[in-house]
Amino acid sequence: MRPFAYVDERDVAGAAAAVHAAPGAMFLAGGTTLVDLMRQGVLAPDLLVDVHRLPLGDIELDDRRARIGACVRNAQLAEHPELRARWPVVGEALLSGMSPQLRNMSTVAGNILQRTRCSYYRDGHSPCNKRVPGSGCAAIGGHDRDHAILGAGPRCIAVFPSDLATALAILDAIVYTRRGDGGARRLPFDGFHLAPGDTPERETILDHGELVTHLELPTLAIARCSHYFKVGDRSSYSFALASAAVALDLERGIVRDARIALGGVATRPWRCPDAEQALRGKPAELSSFRAAADVALAGAVAGRHNGFKIDLARHVLVRALTELAARPR
Ligand SMILES: Cc1cc2nc3c(=O)[nH]c(=O)nc-3n(C[C@H](O)[C@H](O)[C@H](O)COP(=O)(O)OP(=O)(O)OC[C@H]3O[C@@H](n4cnc5c(N)ncnc54)[C@H](O)[C@@H]3O)c2cc1C
Ligand code: SF4
Repeated sequence: MRPFAYVDERDVAGAAAAVHAAPGAMFLAGGTTLVDLMRQGVLAPDLLVDVHRLPLGDIELDDRRARIGACVRNAQLAEHPELRARWPVVGEALLSGMSPQLRNMSTVAGNILQRTRCSYYRDGHSPCNKRVPGSGCAAIGGHDRDHAILGAGPRCIAVFPSDLATALAILDAIVYTRRGDGGARRLPFDGFHLAPGDTPERETILDHGELVTHLELPTLAIARCSHYFKVGDRSSYSFALASAAVALDLERGIVRDARIALGGVATRPWRCPDAEQALRGKPAELSSFRAAADVALAGAVAGRHNGFKIDLARHVLVRALTELAARPR
């Protein structure tokens, strides 16, 4: 590991300014992604600005919304009783992955800003446009079993791995930030993560030194009837091969409204508006769910070893919708 400086910040504006002022600086929260990548030589910041003791560790709730501090631990979010009642998909997504120790250590902001698990990115030496822009992509034509079938581009096919982000994609979430120059932004979650395009090294619309301070979940009636279902190589402590975050508004067995996002299969959190539209007005039954899943996967493109994900994602989505529709309400 290369030498680096470390600052323990207690002030929000100070933390953003410190990273903004140093091109090689990064924020450190729980460290469960960042420290791994530093050990592997994938990331080499020369300054770490520790943000995990900033006054951003609270969850505030009222009738209109939940306001979640960036440094709230993933365990704290997963176990919050009122959040579980009003936005069940959030807790279910968080409990579907990570060990309890990791959930206790890691933060909400770190979760939505975690890096891909692409093994070529993480090995530190293969050609990888995300790690070394312009160096190529070893996964294209290589071992792409875990890679994306939706949203991939000619420069990068890596999956964005966060379960929480997949859940947030159906909840109209808002990300609040403090910029290094003192400004602040309110960023809709839809559009926060970028497609790889020509710059796969840039994964979000955040600028250097822009600190995430809060997430906001507006109160949505449909969110009370939401669910997360995930399939990985193991049933616990494993990233998604395919997952689905779903919400349904049903009236006498007919779908009035639906929300659908897929995880584990796309380069960013993947909302499926066409599949949602395909469900509206249809009976909440298997044939409608299968038809919506066909629409959700219509644009999927398989590589050499990940074609199985197309069928898997279809089944995962149908199962998520079926389980949710069967819940007592
Ligand atoms: C063994 C293992 C299994 C895992 N399994 C899963 C799983 O199944 N599902 C899943 O979704 N995740 C999984 N994860 C990933 C885990 O969710 C992330 O590592 C964790 O959420 C990152 O949070 P952190 O606070 O530790 O972030 P850090 O590692 O501290 O930071 C991550 C990134 O976020 C940036 N950052 C942190 N806070 C801020 C902020 N406030 N503003 C701006 N930038 C910030 C950092 O600079 C860094 O780039 C797993 C991780 C491990 C190690
Ligand atoms: S898929 Fe993306 S992260 Fe993986 S090797 Fe290719 S460019 Fe790098």
